[in-house]
Amino acid sequence: MSEFRTLRGMRDFLPDETGLLRSIEGKAREVARLYGYREVITPVLESYELLAAKAGEEVRTRMYAFKDLGGRMVALRPEFTASIARLVAVTLRNEPKPIRLYCIGSLYRYDEPQKGRFREFWQSNFELIGSDKAEADSEILLLTNRFMKAVGLKGYVFKVSHIGILRSIFGREGVAEDAQNRALQLMDKKMYNEALSLLRDAGASEKCLKTVKEIVEIKGSNVNSILAEIEKLIQDYEEAVYALKNLARILKLVEAHALNVTVDAGFARGLEYYTGMIFEVYVPELNIALAGGGRYDRLVELFGGEPTPAVGVAHGLDRIMLAVQEQNAPLETRKANAAALIATNETLAPEGIRIAEMLRSEGVPVEMEVMGRRVTKALEDADRRGAPYVVLVGEKELTENSVVLRDMHKKQQQVVKIEDLAKILKDLGI
Ligand code: AMP
Repeated sequence: MSEFRTLRGMRDFLPDETGLLRSIEGKAREVARLYGYREVITPVLESYELLAAKAGEEVRTRMYAFKDLGGRMVALRPEFTASIARLVAVTLRNEPKPIRLYCIGSLYRYDEPQKGRFREFWQSNFELIGSDKAEADSEILLLTNRFMKAVGLKGYVFKVSHIGILRSIFGREGVAEDAQNRALQLMDKKMYNEALSLLRDAGASEKCLKTVKEIVEIKGSNVNSILAEIEKLIQDYEEAVYALKNLARILKLVEAHALNVTVDAGFARGLEYYTGMIFEVYVPELNIALAGGGRYDRLVELFGGEPTPAVGVAHGLDRIMLAVQEQNAPLETRKANAAALIATNETLAPEGIRIAEMLRSEGVPVEMEVMGRRVTKALEDADRRGAPYVVLVGEKELTENSVVLRDMHKKQQQVVKIEDLAKILKDLGI
């Protein structure tokens, strides 16, 4: 036995799993087409500084970071948004707005591996850049809803809030941005008591702490009444009310589209760059988020671009895959349906290859017998592989420009002309 294994937190996707992942990706691409998003490919490796800028403590400390041979500090990307913001700040700075971009690929975080948490994982990531309007936020929610539906998931819920509610309150209390970030990190991990004592140390008043404590308690799917309850609590914080109104408008815009929304004002997200609406998607079967996103209006500027509002979402494809499996969602994965081709003796191999290549040129997939097996063994093998049809290239038939075509299910065979073979196999659905 070899001692080589995949590294902890890394995994191989076998053909069936790869098929499922690709099929989910296919749905993401279809969503992109329907909403007018264009694909970009950015490097897996970026400068550490770029990735660390606003990633948040949690992600920052878990990056695969190292010095390259030129002595530069680099890191494997832990998320896409920083790369997209860089692209917009530098290369696409004069592009007319809005810019709609998406990307699909692998990300790297030195997370503690567990169900649905890997050190290499996959996302489809959608970014809508250049609009600060609620219509843009609502589009990101709607396309995520369409994607979840398209992969066949049921009972998924959008947990939604607006980071401006908490940040405005903290800001008014004079809590420094750094302390705000740490408090939000703790709240993201549901460590509310620790967050409150940190805020107290950072100068927040008892009244503020009481408000935050109450806000954290309020959550529910009756959007209007929850929003009204929050508004009552935050009345004294003008900016927070403004943020709440923005959230209300976004939710109004998606109201008619059957999104299952839970408003949770105490919810925060690990990444520091959010400035507006934030959200995550959950299914009842898994207690980890399938997707997460929100508005980040200052990131492009931070990277040296024009002030550019933006909103986006990352869909966690590994977790969506898990959810699809847990729910037995009927997502079709394309199984290769190839015919097998067996040359009945070694001297007929060139002729066998010629026929196989001819079929492939006609678009018919063919798996050629390459193990040197005798016909009976080769037929058994084709059966085991589930080949529905086998082409047997034999001496006698070749003299009449024909081959034997065997139906593996019916266990019947017929002699057919080579020139008719491609059409016959196509008509049979190969
Ligand atoms: P985040 O950038 O942390 O908001 O993550 C966005 C989405 O990516 C999450 O909702 C997850 O679905 C997925 N994700 C994040 N970290 C991991 C991980 N370590 N393993 C698998 N999926 C992840």
